[in-house]
Amino acid sequence: MSGYCSSCKMMVQEKYLIKGKCPMCGKPIVIEQLKLAKRKTIKYDILVVYLDKTTKQECSVTYTDVSAYNYQRIEQAKNVVSITKLNREV
Ligand SMILES: [Zn+2]
Repeated sequence: MSGYCSSCKMMVQEKYLIKGKCPMCGKPIVIEQLKLAKRKTIKYDILVVYLDKTTKQECSVTYTDVSAYNYQRIEQAKNVVSITKLNREV
């Protein structure tokens, strides 16, 4: 199960949510079944290492079904330390 963060515009796996909120931006997330999977556009699963805004410690989160556009968006986020593309069967 994943949830969609309307602020990051990305899917977040449920296990990464912090009290139901996006670990990156803190916005509440609605858990829903993945329904974007059938689209034909290229999507990535990415592992993002970022600095937590409160603790200033490195944390990681896996986003799924990230479009190329949103991949670029997160690359430009200030608190992102590194991004790793995860292998994925299409
Ligand atoms: Zn978010």
